Amino acid sequence: MNQGLSRRDFLKLASLMSLGIAIPPSVQYLGIPGILQGKRQNVLIVIFDALSAYNISLYGYSRETTPNLTRLAKRATVYHNHFASGSFTTPGTASLLTGMLPWTHRAIRINGKVKTSFSNKNIFNAFTDYHRIAYSHNPLVNILLKQFLEDINEYVPQEKLYLFSDSLIRDLFSKDEDIASIAWTRIMKHKEDGYSYSLFLTHLYEKYREYKVADILEFFPYGLPESYGDNYFNLQQGIDWTGDRLKNITHPFFGYFHYLPPHWPYKPHRDYAGQFANDSWKSLIKPDDLFTDDKSKEFLHKQRAFYDEFILNVDSEFGRLFNLLESSGILDNTWVVFTSDHGEMFERGIWAHETPTFYQPVIRVPLLIFGPGQQSGQSIYTPTSAIDLMPTLLHVTGHDIPEWTEGSILPPYAPLITPLGKKGIYAVEARYNDPAAPLVRATVMLVEDNYKLVYYRGYEELDLNNERTQLFNIQTDPEELIDLSLSKKETASELLNVIKTRLKESDEPYL
Ligand SMILES: [Zn+2]
Repeated sequence: MNQGLSRRDFLKLASLMSLGIAIPPSVQYLGIPGILQGKRQNVLIVIFDALSAYNISLYGYSRETTPNLTRLAKRATVYHNHFASGSFTTPGTASLLTGMLPWTHRAIRINGKVKTSFSNKNIFNAFTDYHRIAYSHNPLVNILLKQFLEDINEYVPQEKLYLFSDSLIRDLFSKDEDIASIAWTRIMKHKEDGYSYSLFLTHLYEKYREYKVADILEFFPYGLPESYGDNYFNLQQGIDWTGDRLKNITHPFFGYFHYLPPHWPYKPHRDYAGQFANDSWKSLIKPDDLFTDDKSKEFLHKQRAFYDEFILNVDSEFGRLFNLLESSGILDNTWVVFTSDHGEMFERGIWAHETPTFYQPVIRVPLLIFGPGQQSGQSIYTPTSAIDLMPTLLHVTGHDIPEWTEGSILPPYAPLITPLGKKGIYAVEARYNDPAAPLVRATVMLVEDNYKLVYYRGYEELDLNNERTQLFNIQTDPEELIDLSLSKKETASELLNVIKTRLKESDEPYL
């Protein structure tokens, strides 16, 4: 029998050793005392989809989009340089839920899943002694949650928080969601030219829909919030339901709640709609990118205002959820995480997040961690990654950290004696690449200290050598206006070598 310390034992021991020795008194409540008293702490992860740190006033955005978050940040650990691991829902969420990078878990395509052999390598599996509950408005997230179903005690179907949905057709074609959506469109939808397979059903459906949403339509001047089609929802109702459900849930619980706002379509409640329509906010002039979507400045300006209003709506609802949790006493014994799966872009001719680029608005996301009963705030400026969340939450609740996670325990929770080396933060985009093949068409980001290198390969927009490299100093040039890849050649080539080595390693199983 091996008498030496395992990595897990080392981490556990380290966390105990650091207690009271190195942690300042103001942060001594951080998790561990609760474990020592034998009271297991709950975990609640709240995701708002496509929420960019760039547009959050807590992080310095000049439109006041997050008054509640700014207020609540005084009771949280706030991460100022936190990065998603992918630029859209599938890879971003999969990394958050597995603690692995997209080139490892391979959920890289729209509608993708993680590698079959990784189905049990997920955060729910690591909290096996907890009541595990999960909900998402977003079908792409539900594809992943369904893959992890064995490890979730209470999977709440997306329809639960839809006002009205196309679940009828989905049920009829449950084996094939693609056919379901085509069938739905063909049979039910009244197309612009008035054509549908069933005028009778279309008429009936439209009447039924109007009836179901009539009561709340007036609260949404831009239309009802929806998730991919006719899946209308009301965030307020979703937050109420969540607060209610958690009031009576079995403890300890691990909750994952993934709401769609402020993801497109941007449809804020009337209390927020129009708030930024006519203000004097002006964006910095940035040249169109090589990967431009050819969106005009006027279009981007308008969409940005709608998006910012939707963030204002999200901020208010998160504030309400926080109050609900506080008044029911849950906060005192729960770690609450506020974050997102990826960002959103309104610059360089690019809109939203269907882009091969990794500019800050699309990849830098918020992260706030509220410790149980935490009453003071602190800021972390070290670059951190979505894959760090899983090991951190396991660590602070006294769980073992599985060997397969690629993340690290976040500061300030990391034991100070952990031998931390220079740690790079990665993101990977490869939505058009076969998940079971080497990454020939991909973008990889590496952030190390103040530098961010973005490497592109295999896109038809690229020149003859089929590659592109960008280097930014995100500390001195947070708007990424100056590409340093030529003037700081040494740094660029050093980081590029690291990326290429990692790419090669990740490709190996697929060669
Ligand atoms: Zn998303």
